[in-house]
Amino acid sequence: MLFCVFFVYSKRCFLYGDKNIYVKKFYISESIIAWLTIISISAFWSVSQERKNQGDIYLEDGRNLFNLIVTTREWNARLGGIYAPISDKIQPNPYLDLPNRDITTIKGEKLTLLNPAYMTRMIAELANERDRVNFHITSLKPIRPANVPRTWEAIALKTFEKRREQEYSEYFDNGKTLFFRYMAPLVTQQSCLKCHEKQGYKVGDIRGGISVSFPATFSTPWVLIFTHIFFAILGSVAIFTYGSKLNNTMQVLENLSMIDGLTVIFNRRYFDEYITREFLDSKRSKHPLSIGICDIDNFKLYNDTYGHPAGDECLKAVAQTIDSALRRPGDIVARYGGEEFVVVLPSTPADGALAIGNLLCTRIESLRLSHTSSQVSKYVTVSIGMTTYYGDDTSLKSLLNFADQSLYKAKSNGKNRVEYIAATVE
Ligand code: GH3
Ligand code: MG
Ligand code: MG
Repeated sequence: MLFCVFFVYSKRCFLYGDKNIYVKKFYISESIIAWLTIISISAFWSVSQERKNQGDIYLEDGRNLFNLIVTTREWNARLGGIYAPISDKIQPNPYLDLPNRDITTIKGEKLTLLNPAYMTRMIAELANERDRVNFHITSLKPIRPANVPRTWEAIALKTFEKRREQEYSEYFDNGKTLFFRYMAPLVTQQSCLKCHEKQGYKVGDIRGGISVSFPATFSTPWVLIFTHIFFAILGSVAIFTYGSKLNNTMQVLENLSMIDGLTVIFNRRYFDEYITREFLDSKRSKHPLSIGICDIDNFKLYNDTYGHPAGDECLKAVAQTIDSALRRPGDIVARYGGEEFVVVLPSTPADGALAIGNLLCTRIESLRLSHTSSQVSKYVTVSIGMTTYYGDDTSLKSLLNFADQSLYKAKSNGKNRVEYIAATVE
């Protein structure tokens, strides 16, 4: 499950040339919320399942107690009742209208007949005393007033009579204790007719029912709850830890994908993305957007004179000098080609662009990087071609062409200078 959550990604899209590049980012908080939601659903389901299982056990207990009492009653009925000595506790059953209800043994001992109903009452009293289990024989046509059904028993008996249900169960809270109560019908057997035929019952008729009530306790499934809490915390920590690592790695990779390895300024790919965005922005807002292409003068000769590694060092120094000269947040410099750099100056009109261009030329020459074979200066210099876009119908491609043309002009006019050509609609 945790594994699935790790696939909650977002896709961030940006334009690269005419291609869409998707960067996947792992969403930590959303994944943690998803994980906690799954755990909560699982906890809720498990706890309710646990309750249902406990409920099934109570129902089974109710059935077993009912069946036990019915079996005992049948045993009694098959014997035609059993005799017990009359005592304070066992008095003749006034509702038992049989000629041989009370007998005297040859030793003079007085016995009375215990029929199933009487025996059930006695067992019920004992069970109630010992286990707080309450049996109640009841009927919609009771012979004995104590057998009048309680409200819930009457409802159950009516459903039995309509043959809709064969058993009835519910929970009942008396304010102090929760009880489970179960009831099933008493179906008239042949052996019952001895006493009940005169009430008009036939075999198979529902004569009443026996209800069984006993205390029910629902223990809180702490083990289950704590297990879920444990996995909720463990999963969240894992998502946070590995999600953060994943995002850091992706961030590093993303940074690497837009930085030029040698000069540590933005690369061509990032420039393409950035200029596209700025160009569209300028087109919408009509804010001027200036672009300058800087090319190191006589760099081939520099390489030839000082060697390629020195050339690389020179490229790095020039790149960093341009980068540190750009102060405004939106200004960027990127490596455009071999020894060419491109500066993007959003919200900068022509005069501002020329000022920046001149500043760059001065700063680079001020580096005093010896270039003995240059025909322009003793030091490394650059030529810069500038152009400005004013939000008209000029395309990005032509804008870059204008910058290129102005660079060509700067080279033709003697290098180590800035030239400007206004971008016009072609
Ligand atoms: P110009 O003044 O007209 O620009 O002359 P240039 O010699 O600079 O002109 P060109 O564009 O022909 O030469 C660029 C040179 O830059 C060619 C190549 O050897 C060098 N170069 C391009 N990339 C690198 C690099 O990464 N490292 C080094 N050391 N040299 C590079
Ligand atoms: Mg060049
Ligand atoms: Mg050059």
